Amino acid sequence: MSLSRLSAKRLFRQQSYIGGQWRDAADGATVKVDNPANGEILGTIPSLSAAEIGEAIVQADAGFQIWRKKTALERADLLLRWNDLMLEHKEDIASLMTMEQGKPLEESRGEVVYAASFIRWFAEEARRVYGETIPGAKPGQHIVVTRHPVGVTAAITPWNFPAAMITRKAGAALAAGCSMIVKPAEATPYTALALAELAHEAGIPAGVFNVVTGKSSMIGKVFTDSPVVRTLSFTGSTSVGSKLMAQCADNVQKVSLELGGNAPFIVFDDADLKRAVEGAMVSKFRNTGQTCICANRFLVQASVHDEFVSLLAEAMGKLKVGDGFEEGVTQSALINHDAALKVKRHYEDALSKGATHVAGPRPEADNGSYVHPVLITDVTPDMELCEDETFGPLAAVMKFDTEEEALKIANDTPYGLAAYFYSTNIHRIWRVADELEAGIIGVNEGAVSNAAAPFGGVKASGLGREGSHYGLDEYTEVKYLCMGAE
Ligand code: ADP
Repeated sequence: MSLSRLSAKRLFRQQSYIGGQWRDAADGATVKVDNPANGEILGTIPSLSAAEIGEAIVQADAGFQIWRKKTALERADLLLRWNDLMLEHKEDIASLMTMEQGKPLEESRGEVVYAASFIRWFAEEARRVYGETIPGAKPGQHIVVTRHPVGVTAAITPWNFPAAMITRKAGAALAAGCSMIVKPAEATPYTALALAELAHEAGIPAGVFNVVTGKSSMIGKVFTDSPVVRTLSFTGSTSVGSKLMAQCADNVQKVSLELGGNAPFIVFDDADLKRAVEGAMVSKFRNTGQTCICANRFLVQASVHDEFVSLLAEAMGKLKVGDGFEEGVTQSALINHDAALKVKRHYEDALSKGATHVAGPRPEADNGSYVHPVLITDVTPDMELCEDETFGPLAAVMKFDTEEEALKIANDTPYGLAAYFYSTNIHRIWRVADELEAGIIGVNEGAVSNAAAPFGGVKASGLGREGSHYGLDEYTEVKYLCMGAE
């Protein structure tokens, strides 16, 4: 049983965390959680009722009333304690994450550090929620701008980064003085509940950080039906995000959305190909291709195409597929069988429309959630994979001749989260960076996420930014005092 790996068994919680208490559903309803690597049932989580989610909102409001009155320094100190506890329990949280999500243990460890970095970053930012003064409109008048927490906030998070997608939201919310209720993905609740246990141990007051579990559409509806919830922050698919945004309209709730991407990765003829391949590997194969900023379409200039493809094939040959707990594994099971089927479908659609198989075994449907990395070339924009993120280890390469053509293909998508390009020509670098329609641009860099930088997309990839000082904007309201003259 993989749970025997945990040294601190108390981090494995099978209850929701509301108002500082661990809770089951009143009617005892539960849902099972499994390990995608082998189908093993890890345990259950409560399936709470709408009334119980409503109770969580009441508790979060009570938590908010306490939290907003604390000084920024008090909030910062508690957040720093939470950060320290996450780092102290890195190994256990990483094991829980690999058990429920599948990702290689080394990547889970990396995610715990990355997740904690948001708590630390926002603990530091908590003391810098500055206002402003503006010259008045009349003699003697002063305009004073102050910033205030929005109130109770809610987060709905995905399974691909079970810790970081929570801390990136909760760090900002709590730093600003808001309370938060998190609804983690059904596939990965245990990481979220472990974070709740550590928030409790850090001394974060009851009701300030809550984790609820149950039917996602019902929980989303309770959040958006409540005028008490002032910001809904969502990371997930564009279809669910746009539905939630519509639901937020009734109560005019602030909405922050991190949605799907379709990242182009462009390699120009003046690129350093060795670096480009290193960046491609990080961007494409991190989390076994299951990140919303994964390179989805490689665009390679004709004169360097063959060399780039052969270097990429060589690098891909070093990837090791297996159970995330096995030493040296870099590519794990995908989140479920449907995810594996999608990679197979994209591969077969591409081949039926003229793509060429270059390296890796053909994706199989009968292999549970596992898919081996596969490389194809002669990809064209009419293929399904160019319209819809594959979210798996399929590297698809298109050839282009001119910069103009590359930009046209890169921007020809409703999405605009991340884009990457490799070039050593400074004029081209500025030109292309200006023209790419994306919120995040990796210029000669494949690993673009960090707590200090604003993460977020344009077009159908979302609204708002997470991380950096911009991340606080989703959780603060501006108040202006018009100080009249005598
Ligand atoms: P993914 O493709 O990453 O699973 P989803 O958008 O389906 O993306 O899921 C992201 C999060 O949204 C998960 O926590 C999921 O439970 C939740 N979710 C899915 N459908 C809804 C919905 N109708 N209302 C609210 N939350 C939802």
